[in-house]
Amino acid sequence: MFVHLNGDLVPDAEAAIPVSDRGFRYGDAGFETLRAYGGELFRWDAHESRLRGTLDALGMPDALPGDLRDRVRETLDANDLADAYVRVSVTRGPQAGKLAPGPAEHPTVVVVTKPLPRGGRESDSVWDAPARVETVPTRRVPDSAIPADAKTHNYLNGVLAKRDLSPDADAALMLDVDGNVAECATSNVFFARDGVLHTPTTDGDVLPGITRDTVLDLAADRGIPVETGRYGPEALRDADELFLTNTTWELRPVSALDGRGYPVGDLAETLADAYDDHVETAHY
Ligand code: PMP
Repeated sequence: MFVHLNGDLVPDAEAAIPVSDRGFRYGDAGFETLRAYGGELFRWDAHESRLRGTLDALGMPDALPGDLRDRVRETLDANDLADAYVRVSVTRGPQAGKLAPGPAEHPTVVVVTKPLPRGGRESDSVWDAPARVETVPTRRVPDSAIPADAKTHNYLNGVLAKRDLSPDADAALMLDVDGNVAECATSNVFFARDGVLHTPTTDGDVLPGITRDTVLDLAADRGIPVETGRYGPEALRDADELFLTNTTWELRPVSALDGRGYPVGDLAETLADAYDDHVETAHY
């Protein structure tokens, strides 16, 4: 497999980053994960814009290469991939060992791809294995500490949340510091009650997921009532159905939260079918 490193395609076994890289030392970096379907980059503009926002928040707006999309395409071509997972990272680059950041004069830019076949709801493993979710003691880092809409390399919050899980659970639901539902370690959370779809507002401590955004648009197109807001944990307990969203899972139904069972619901199925259609037919 080839990776793209600072403008060059290199075999992954030869790709090396200096140990003084601030992405390694401090998580001082932004990243995106996205998907290619049939060679097309799903919602590239949204991913590039979120990455731009992350790099702005970290004070390194110029680190974003103008030809990033070409680099992603070149990596997919070099690896002969049409349906793929793509990860793009931009770090502040190698700098002398002090915490205060210098200008990002030599950012490290990495594109990694791996095969990720498109399942669709009929054949996708996340529909065979709905998520078993647990509310974990680790709270979501507040936006006032690390901007919630920045997708940085600092994923320790999610790592610790995952460590909290018992062995038979697979998704870690984090509350915010006020005790409201925030998101899972790597996904946004939706619930439905009496035919209305709800998801926590991104005004709070929640990553504005691009899958979340797509699902909200698809729901609006189909006339499904949607509300966003701040919800206590009891809102999930009283829900008729729950599902999670992220780039790799798309929509993943939830079969249990804190030991309580949930059915795979009509809204999750309708929206997953809509998502499948959108991936097949939309121009993006
Ligand atoms: N929240 C967190 C903390 C995440 O890591 C992810 C995955 N990027 C998401 C939500 C979902 O975001 P997206 O739909 O853009 O993949």
